Amino acid sequence: MADKNFNAFKMAQQQFDQIAEKLQLKQGIRDLLRNPMREYHFNIPVKMDDGTTKVFRGFRVQHNDSRGPCKGGIRFHPQETVDTVRALATWMTWKCSVVDIPLGGGKGGVICDPHNLNSREQEQICRGWVRQIAKNVGPLTDVPAPDVMTNSQHMLWMLDEYEAIHGAKFPGFITGKPVGMGGSLGRTEATGYGVMYTVRESLKNMGIDPKDTSASFQGFGNVSQYAIELFEKMGGKAVCVSCWDQNDQKSYTYRKTTGIVLDELRAITDRFGGINKAKALDMGYEALSGEAWLEQEVDILIPAALENQITGENVSKISNKVKILAEGANGPTTPEADKIIHERNIFVIPDFLANAGGVTCSYFEQVQCNMNYFWSREEVLSKLDLKMTSAFHAVSELAKKKNLYMRDAAYIIAIDRVARACEDRGWI
Ligand code: NAD
Repeated sequence: MADKNFNAFKMAQQQFDQIAEKLQLKQGIRDLLRNPMREYHFNIPVKMDDGTTKVFRGFRVQHNDSRGPCKGGIRFHPQETVDTVRALATWMTWKCSVVDIPLGGGKGGVICDPHNLNSREQEQICRGWVRQIAKNVGPLTDVPAPDVMTNSQHMLWMLDEYEAIHGAKFPGFITGKPVGMGGSLGRTEATGYGVMYTVRESLKNMGIDPKDTSASFQGFGNVSQYAIELFEKMGGKAVCVSCWDQNDQKSYTYRKTTGIVLDELRAITDRFGGINKAKALDMGYEALSGEAWLEQEVDILIPAALENQITGENVSKISNKVKILAEGANGPTTPEADKIIHERNIFVIPDFLANAGGVTCSYFEQVQCNMNYFWSREEVLSKLDLKMTSAFHAVSELAKKKNLYMRDAAYIIAIDRVARACEDRGWI
């Protein structure tokens, strides 16, 4: 499905160039914002359990910190590239800006496949990552978080290493920590719920009751599972999910005509978001091709797996029934596909707005760590709902007022805020 020549960073730069033109930004600010301010590339040697030493490649990219410390996750992925990390760091800058939280954009990664690493080896990668970069990250400079194939345990190992190096407690160094160890209630569900808050507001604008809608999801990991959870609570029908099958090394779409049942699928899903195919078939699910999630006759499409999934080649498979594309994943739609989606008048909730619930809750985690006082889950989620809802309406109102595509309206708000911060600081 993915376009082999796809380069996420080129796409992030193209998107930026278009908005820079619309905003008539000065050349200096364009030069500053189209590339990361700083980036670090390093080796992480790990003594493996089989007695060999393996060297893993790690990255941290700090795109822009004019509005506050850089913020962004660390991905473990065998196909990780520095250009993907650069793109994601850039999108983090726009994401923090569009929801108006006082943070900049960063991202990290390690080229590795946690499926083939035991817990001790993963711990060594986490500690090694921090040892390589401990002087260049921190609560006031750059705050990492979990992302694809990393979780709260990885964050706690990283925090422990950071605190050992610096000889004090720094709970604000990293977010996504376990609850009870500086983590925030509500963080696990924040991104998926955030996606659905924006879907709920879009439906409200369209005058559609969520109970009358159906949706199809790509991915069955953290984002997708909680988006489905809230969608079901809103009364919507989740028709299918697609996910990666580690054994077959390909993806499948699991569908039930009566709608998928979240809890029964969760019970047969591994910690990487892979559904057990044999058990799903036993439960009466169909296992369709990986791309089938895109072709469903539904009202809402939610890509929540990886970047570069809706491309010029497969965009025509989207049904005419689809009204909303809510991008749970980062960069799931290529510019070529985006152009067609725009022409077809599908309402897009762009990735850096739709999935900003995670970073917003991470910001709440930092605030709570700084106060050393933790809020209830209800308090966290109601603050999250407020932030996401007001960010969504700021974007949709600008889009309506100036007759803009939603993605452009979101970029205009986000990039304008960052450009102003750089100017106000006297950087350009
Ligand atoms: P995850 O690792 O928990 O889940 C990923 C899911 O995608 C799994 O179900 C996996 O099987 C599936 N998948 C992988 N390759 C696939 C393929 N080729 N076809 C179909 N399914 C495939 O990850 P996540 O945390 O849910 O993140 C998903 C996306 O959302 C990523 O783009 C991530 O950057 C973005 N995101 C996550 C958060 C967060 O808080 N978790 C926040 C913002 C953005």
